[in-house]
Amino acid sequence: MADKSKKNDAKDLFADYPNLYSSSSADEIDACMTFAEDYKSFLDISKTEREFVRNAIDACESVGFVDIESKKSLKAGDKVYSSIRGKGLIMAVVGKKNTGFNILGAHIDSPRLDLKPNPIYEDEETAYFKTHYYGGIKKYQWTTIPLAIHGVVFTSDGKSHEIVVGEKDDDPVFYITDLLPHLADEQMKKSPRDFISGEDLNVVIGGMPLKSSKKEEKNAFKANILKFLFDNYGIKEKDFVSGEIEIVPAVKARDVGFDRAYIAAYGHDDKVCAYPALMALLDQERPDKTCVCMLTDKEEIGSYANSGAQSVLYENFLMEVFAKQTGKTFDLLAYRKFIASSKMLSADVSNAYDPKYASVSDRKNSAFMSHGIKLEKYVGARGKSGTNEANGDFVAEITGIFAKNNVSWQTGELGKVDAGGGGTISAYMAKHGMEVIDCGVPVWSMHAPYEVISKIDLYDTYLAYKSFIENI
Ligand code: MN
Ligand code: MN
Repeated sequence: MADKSKKNDAKDLFADYPNLYSSSSADEIDACMTFAEDYKSFLDISKTEREFVRNAIDACESVGFVDIESKKSLKAGDKVYSSIRGKGLIMAVVGKKNTGFNILGAHIDSPRLDLKPNPIYEDEETAYFKTHYYGGIKKYQWTTIPLAIHGVVFTSDGKSHEIVVGEKDDDPVFYITDLLPHLADEQMKKSPRDFISGEDLNVVIGGMPLKSSKKEEKNAFKANILKFLFDNYGIKEKDFVSGEIEIVPAVKARDVGFDRAYIAAYGHDDKVCAYPALMALLDQERPDKTCVCMLTDKEEIGSYANSGAQSVLYENFLMEVFAKQTGKTFDLLAYRKFIASSKMLSADVSNAYDPKYASVSDRKNSAFMSHGIKLEKYVGARGKSGTNEANGDFVAEITGIFAKNNVSWQTGELGKVDAGGGGTISAYMAKHGMEVIDCGVPVWSMHAPYEVISKIDLYDTYLAYKSFIENI
């Protein structure tokens, strides 16, 4: 029953999700701008999951984290991590109370073009890489933009050969051609889904023949590239089978707008959630409860593989933290109860309402740029297919913590009910019994080679993560 002694103005009864550039102080906006500079720098050197892991481990080690393998036991304040096959990362700061983990999770793989296992060919005096796209992309967006090559090739002598080309100002870039409009009448009649096919995403990598004593060397243009690759990286054609080479946009993160409110970059999905999660964990010294940050691979293709969120390697780390903190013989039931009492923010980007494409969104249930972290009770597709759904009491617990700590948030769905859908890593953690909710930063042009976020949403998300792991 309502308490009649409390009189509310009618306006207090309405939900209000303000634009944070309007509602924040000048000091808060300064702090947000500084945080954004650090994010852009980190993003520019962390375009692939392997690069992100390496840079995150450097950041962790610089504040005292060690590999959990080097610890026989754990006590409050200890900081440990485990690399998940070099492509995922899980870290913990051990708490004073041994009562469940407070977990932040996000993924660090992004849509891109991978090389096929047998990628090099030549056609009409030009050498190309064949690619196989990774994640959901609009294929035509990857033509006629500067591309960079990032990755590693492993050879059977146990060596790894790292290749990064296209990032330095004087590096060459790589390129996928498109048809000139003068001759594109037929092409433009096709649906955008079809006018660039997967087999058309072939990247120009060279245009000079190998000069040899034989007058007409067969495949001289391909041979020239193979020679270059062997001379510079020590790899042969067959070694690409054991390569992990990713083609990504050769662009740096840049401010958008005269007022610099936004950032355009490759890979905001989901590094714009992973980076503030990492920073929120690095801020922890001796938390009450053990704080965990997990940064996973392969989310864009279903979280499979031993580096994806479905892998037991992440759980092995959580078990190890539990076991090394309790110091007793491992008790599976006690661990299961412990993990079930854990709480998690599963962070992934979501669609920001775009007035140009308003028809796909329910405006009343959309997230807006610059209105803060988006809490999503569920994601999924159509009739909530394939989603974790957060429990209402857990949602209320989180919004209560945000209110107490002056953290702004907004809510919404991905888009209209039948417009499409998507999945995240939350369901894989929820199966352990823990409370999990999806949340994340709103993005324009998600999955495009160059996506846009608002700096104030990035900063608000960092504050939200901090208040969650420190207070839940
Ligand atoms: Mn994502
Ligand atoms: Mn995605």
